[in-house]
Parts: sequence; C-alpha cells; structure tokens
Amino acid sequence: MMTFARKAAVLLATMTLPFVPAMAQEAGPAVSQSVPANAPKLLVAIAIDQLSSDIFAQYRQRFTGGFARLTSGAVFPAGYQSHAATETCPGHSTILTGNRPAHTGVIANSWIDQSVTVGPKVVYCAEDVSKRTVGSRDYVASVKNLLVPTLGEWLKRANPASRNIAVSGKDRGALMMGGHDIDQVYWWKGKGFATLEGRALGAAAVAQNAAVGSVLAKGAPAFALPAMCGRNDRAIKAGETTIGTGRFALKAGEADAFRVSPRLDRATLDLAVKLVDEEKLGKDAVPDVLSVSLSATDYVGHATGTEGTEMCIQLTQLDMALGDFFASLDKRGIDYAVVLTADHGGFDLPERLHEQALEASARVSMAVSPEALSATLGKRYGVDAKGLILSDGPSGDYWVRTDIAPGLKGKIVDDAKAILEANDQVEVVLTAAEIAATPAPRRSPEVWTMAERAAASYNPLHSGDFLVFLKRGVVPIPAPRAGYVATHGSPWDYDRRVPMLFWRKGMTGFEQPSAVEVVDIAPSLAALVGLKVPEGSFDGRCLDLDGGSGNTCGATR
Ligand SMILES: [Zn+2]
Repeated sequence: MMTFARKAAVLLATMTLPFVPAMAQEAGPAVSQSVPANAPKLLVAIAIDQLSSDIFAQYRQRFTGGFARLTSGAVFPAGYQSHAATETCPGHSTILTGNRPAHTGVIANSWIDQSVTVGPKVVYCAEDVSKRTVGSRDYVASVKNLLVPTLGEWLKRANPASRNIAVSGKDRGALMMGGHDIDQVYWWKGKGFATLEGRALGAAAVAQNAAVGSVLAKGAPAFALPAMCGRNDRAIKAGETTIGTGRFALKAGEADAFRVSPRLDRATLDLAVKLVDEEKLGKDAVPDVLSVSLSATDYVGHATGTEGTEMCIQLTQLDMALGDFFASLDKRGIDYAVVLTADHGGFDLPERLHEQALEASARVSMAVSPEALSATLGKRYGVDAKGLILSDGPSGDYWVRTDIAPGLKGKIVDDAKAILEANDQVEVVLTAAEIAATPAPRRSPEVWTMAERAAASYNPLHSGDFLVFLKRGVVPIPAPRAGYVATHGSPWDYDRRVPMLFWRKGMTGFEQPSAVEVVDIAPSLAALVGLKVPEGSFDGRCLDLDGGSGNTCGATR
C-alpha cells in the first residue's frame, strides 16, 4: 500500500513539476542515519548498460576478473527491471532511487510533450527543455525530470559531509544514478568527459581527458580474440552492414569508434579512480556513494548484437577492467561495498537469430508506426493526418494530437487499439485508462501481467495516451543500419531481467535464484549504512545480503 505521504508526494509531483531539491527539502520528511560501526565507508554502484541475465549466464563461468570476484558475493541472477519500457533512462532511474519509473517519472528515454514551443515535441529524459534555444540542435543536460531523490541525495540530507559522485559513458546514466544534489558528475561527450552546464571540469576529469586524448591521437591496435570467443567469429549481414567478426582496431582520431569499444569503459573506470582520490572517497566515517555506469556493452550490443566476437571481446575486457578497478580500491585500503546490475537487458539481431533456432524473431513493420496510424485515422475522421498520432518509435508510448476534442480522441484511441491488435506483430495495446486502473503489482515480477508491467512504467506527467507492446522477438528497428542493428526496450524478460551482484570483502556469499527487483538495491544499501528514510519512500524492499545468520536489514525492520 502506498502511504498517504507517498500518495501526496506523487500527486504533488504529477501536479506541479519535479522533485524540489535544495532548500525546500528541509521542510520535507525527516531522514535519519545511525552509521553502524562495521558499515562500509563507500558504496559503489555499477550499472553495466545492457547486461542481460541471459548474457551474464552465458559468460559467468568464463570470467576471471572483476565479475569473478562479484560472483563470490550475494548473487541474484534474476533481478528485474520490472517495468515495461526497458530503456537506459528509466533503468538507471530505478537503481539508486529504489523506485519504479511510475514514481521516478522517467518513463522512457524520451517522450512527447506537446506543450513544447521550441524545437521538436520529443523531450529527452535528461534534458532541461526550458533551456532550449531556437535553432540549436544540442540540449542542456539536466536531471530535473527525475521526480524522486537518489540514495546519494538521501545520504547527503542525513549528513552533508557525505559525497555523491557519478560517472558514465552517457549523461543519462550518470545523472539518473547521481540525482539532483551531486558533488561531481561526468559523462562521455564527443571526445572526452563533460559535466553539467555552469560547472568546470575538476582536475581528475581534466587529467582523464588528457589521457583519452593521447589514445585518440595515436589510435590503438585491435584486441586479440580470446580462445573462448572463437565460436562467435562468424560474419552476419544485416541490411547493408556486416557484423560478427569485429576486433575494435582504433584508427587515430576516430572518437566514435573509441566510444563503441571496451576502451570507453576502461576510461570511465579510470576516471572513477581519479575521483576517488580527488574526493577522498571512503576515507572518513561518513559513507559516500560512487555511481559508475559503463556504457560500452550497450553501444556494442546495438552496433553488433550480443553473439558475435564484438560482445565476447567487450565482456572479456570489461571483466579485466572491473578487476583492475577493484584492485585500485583495495590498494587504497578503502572499506567498500559494491552492487553491480544493469539498466535493462538485450536481444540479438533477427538476422543472426534466424540462423540460431529463433526463426520467430522479426523486424517491426512500419504498419505499426504512428505515421501509418495517422494516415488511416486522419482519413477516417476527416482530420489533418500530419502528426495526428505521435510517438518516439514503432512501439511504446503513443500520443494523440492535443487539438483533437476529447470525444473524438476516445474514438481514435479505440480505433488505434483495434487496428494495432489486428496486426500479428502486436502483443497488446493498453490505453492510459486501462493502465491507470491497474494497481501497483505486489507479486513476483516474472509473473506480472502486461498491464502490471505497463503500470510500473506509467506516470501521468510523461506517459502517452496508449502503449503498444510488440510480440516477443519482434525487434523495434524496422531496418538495420551501421551502429544500430539490435536493441532492447520491450516488456519481455530478455529485456527486463538483469543480474544483481553484491560484494564486500569478507561477506558470506550466497546465490538466490528467485526473482528480486532492481528497486530493492537502494533499500538494501541504505540498510548497510544505517540510513532510515520516511516510510513509503522506496518501491523496493531490503534484501538481507548476509548469507549466514546475520541480517543486513536488521536495522530497518
Ligand atoms: Zn541502456
């Protein structure tokens, strides 16, 4: 049950606008912290962008580096990003807020806001749309669309001496894990790491950018193919592009090839270590938070799918880079606790799946696109077809143009549902009314209905008039192109299920194969450092991370 305070907070958030940071928090609900003597001094939260449980299962016995260390801890192989819109921004918004996208407000990577007057109606999740300027194609990165606080922010409210730091290969990765009140935040942009408008790069970031710059200037040789990747080494043609046999050779000056390679994760982790030193993280009695979102797995997955040499090399290199990162923390004598998870899973490209026993996989037909629906329904009702139905792609949230009167809008939504559900690529279409009438699910996430998955993604401030789910195996990329052959974002478990690995030196490890949720991470970490937030602040529950008789949730029960 949602508490009254929570209902009021959600209502307020949806009525006015975002979560109110800084001074207003002082009047907000009380947070308290009593740091146990044995608490870790640094919480390290790592998101591996697009690391599905399927890929983790495929590789876990082969890992020898950082992943191997984590699999000796508390292992939850079936963590759920339980919502429907399994994209990067919502997925990162759940990890340290302990809230599903219905409450974080981050319902997708982007959504349609028809009240926008400057530029396109598509709003990016991590942009400040009020700062758009006419004619500019760039946006101002911001976390104002996130409606709830992160763990790092709660800790800073409890004790302002706590440090909250985030780094990522993507702005939305760093911002959604770090939150509004963040000491330093960096993400990869173009040829180096950037930060929020109005902030200068710190010395650590300047040094990291110089190191990256020298690699970009010289280029770098291909990675050797590990023996275990041999069976992946086969060319697959997807449209005009051929993938499957890549080795990531880097030509001088090719910043985009640097981004879509294991080198991006290595650079992000190197920056994280520099920030640990610069900020003296984990060095005093006040626990700090370091969020690290590693994006290369996702870029490699989109560009080349999940079953070629590219993903095999990426994960092998990532395993080594994580091992080096943990060794750097060890060398500094820091008492840290780690959680590693993912923002969403992933799925291979249909062209390779067809050769590997999944003939049912297909690319989406443009018949389900908003343009096709607009043409049909505009003609049927004699209204301007241009932009009648809007969306950010051929699945997910769809909107009806706001000049359509409510009575006609209802007919258009009903007709769109009927047309789409008659298409053999469509699983179901759910209207906003149907979703709003679905209570927040209480059951284990693997048995949720489609309406329950949609409800976990639904926030009235940002969500569409109806939601389109494609059938399992239908990939929402109509035609593959260089850099984009495979994707995620569906309500199916290949996109929802991710590993959740907790590790701390000396802990009693265990494996719990039953489903848990990514929103359980924040309450579990909060308990480790004795943080108490107001009842109802988390959608998730505390997981006892002690495999023995101890109970790491004891303090909050
Ligand atoms: Zn992602």
